Amino acid sequence: MPPIRIGQGYDVHAFGEGDHVMLGGVRVPHVQGVVAHSDGDVVLHALCDALLGALALGDIGVHFPPSDARWKGADSRVLLRHCRALVAERGYAVGNCDVTVVCERPKVGPHAEAMRACIAEDLGVAVDAVSVKATTSERMGFTGRGEGIAAMAVALLVAA
Ligand SMILES: [Zn+2]
Repeated sequence: MPPIRIGQGYDVHAFGEGDHVMLGGVRVPHVQGVVAHSDGDVVLHALCDALLGALALGDIGVHFPPSDARWKGADSRVLLRHCRALVAERGYAVGNCDVTVVCERPKVGPHAEAMRACIAEDLGVAVDAVSVKATTSERMGFTGRGEGIAAMAVALLVAA
């Protein structure tokens, strides 16, 4: 068993009807919501994919198919905790993770600490093992035009 494994994840949701966006398990007020089968949390979905990727276990669509009614409107923290259990089952723990949110709005910075705390709790790691950053696309592309929100994540697993 290798002592470390790395994975990356990426997720996008289009903005739609609503008054908030779930980001990193935190309810962030916004003039729009996102279109999603689950709660549409791009941060947690990218993180789940990073964990699954590190284990070479496929992706979030395989583990939580949209066709499965169990995941309709699902709290993505439940999905993240499920991925953490898969990590533990295979003899690993999360070393650290790093997430970048890409959008013009809502402003992520004021909520980043709360997101870190949620993620750290769900992954069973210290807050300083969790990084949440944000950037814009300088008004270019779909995130720049405010059509949707994206997140990228990397996660390092260490043998437990
Ligand atoms: Zn998603």
